[in-house]
Amino acid sequence: MNLHSYDELVKSRHRLSLLLFLFLNTASSIFTMLTTVDNLTLITLPAVLVAVLGVTGLLFTLLRAYRLDRVLNIYSIAMGILWAWHITLKYHQIMPDDKNFLLLSLFSVFFISAIALSGNFTAFCLHVLPAAIMVIYLDQFHNIIRILFTIALPMVGFSLHHLMQKRSDAFTRRLVDNLYIEREKFSDLSMLDPLTNLYNRRGLENRWASITAPVRPQSHFVLLMDIDHFKAYNDNYGHTMGDQALVRVAAAIRDNVRSRDIVVRYGGEEFMVLLTHVERAYAQKIAQRIQQEVLGLEIPHVFNEDVSTHVTLSIGIASLDDRDWVAAVTHADNALYRAKHNGRNAIEFAHEIPGVQEQPVTSLA
Ligand code: GH3
Ligand code: MG
Ligand code: MG
Repeated sequence: MNLHSYDELVKSRHRLSLLLFLFLNTASSIFTMLTTVDNLTLITLPAVLVAVLGVTGLLFTLLRAYRLDRVLNIYSIAMGILWAWHITLKYHQIMPDDKNFLLLSLFSVFFISAIALSGNFTAFCLHVLPAAIMVIYLDQFHNIIRILFTIALPMVGFSLHHLMQKRSDAFTRRLVDNLYIEREKFSDLSMLDPLTNLYNRRGLENRWASITAPVRPQSHFVLLMDIDHFKAYNDNYGHTMGDQALVRVAAAIRDNVRSRDIVVRYGGEEFMVLLTHVERAYAQKIAQRIQQEVLGLEIPHVFNEDVSTHVTLSIGIASLDDRDWVAAVTHADNALYRAKHNGRNAIEFAHEIPGVQEQPVTSLA
């Protein structure tokens, strides 16, 4: 459910309302023309026009040939005038003595409006007003109290109903708006790592989907990074300090790449940077900068009793030319493995031989 589908729902309600309105008008006019009073058929030109307009409108509406919110008011006033005309003709022709005729006619016009136009106050008024005015005029104010009552009662009821409907619609819309905003918020949150505020793997997948293929000599590069001897750091300084170190390293990485580059907390103390549309030398430069920056944080890391040093990063780099994500991560992982073996705090490029798939490294020393 989103705003679009809510709007669709409102639109389909308008459409149904218009269809019902046209159907009721058509049915009423046909019924009026088929019934006989004192062996006289009651066919009038306006009744015929109501039927023609109704049927044409039904066909057009079913074919979705026009904007519904605009035509509903036009149909309402047109039908209203035709009914007022029809009532006048009938009243003069055949039943000037029938006291109930005017009231009954007015009732039937209100009946159609109340059933079909309950969602549209303007259309409701446009449909009933011509007949109401005409009935008061024809009656010459003889039954004004009864007529006014007949008009006022549904009008008051309808106004209240309309007010309630509007409030409930506004409430629903606010509810849908809020739901939509909350959903966006949760969707954003579900893509972020809560500790470092970097993307998690879901965030990476999402961003990757919007990245276009590189144009040579540029490429995309995957930088896979792993904090050196971090288990020992946790053992020495405790998990809370470990978390703080992770946050500082994450910030150092984020601060040393372009805003468009994607920085991900890939695992516990592993990070990934996806550099898009860059050359190999640039990827190397960024990796060196990150490595230096993390060392420059000077987070103390007494690895053993003899060596006192700082928290460092090892980095494996692989290109992502052909957008083969699995291969690129495997290559970067193998390069990282070599960086670890070369003494850590090191950077290695993947040996990417076309057509030769490196075996994935499953564990890092
Ligand atoms: P290497 O240099 O080979 O990478 O050694 P290492 O000790 O960093 O590697 P290892 O995979 O043995 O240990 C990773 C450690 O990272 C283990 C785990 O306690 C720590 N770690 C992972 N996630 C978190 C975290 O969210 N917070 C903290 N404080 N530590 C974490
Ligand atoms: Mg690791
Ligand atoms: Mg590590």
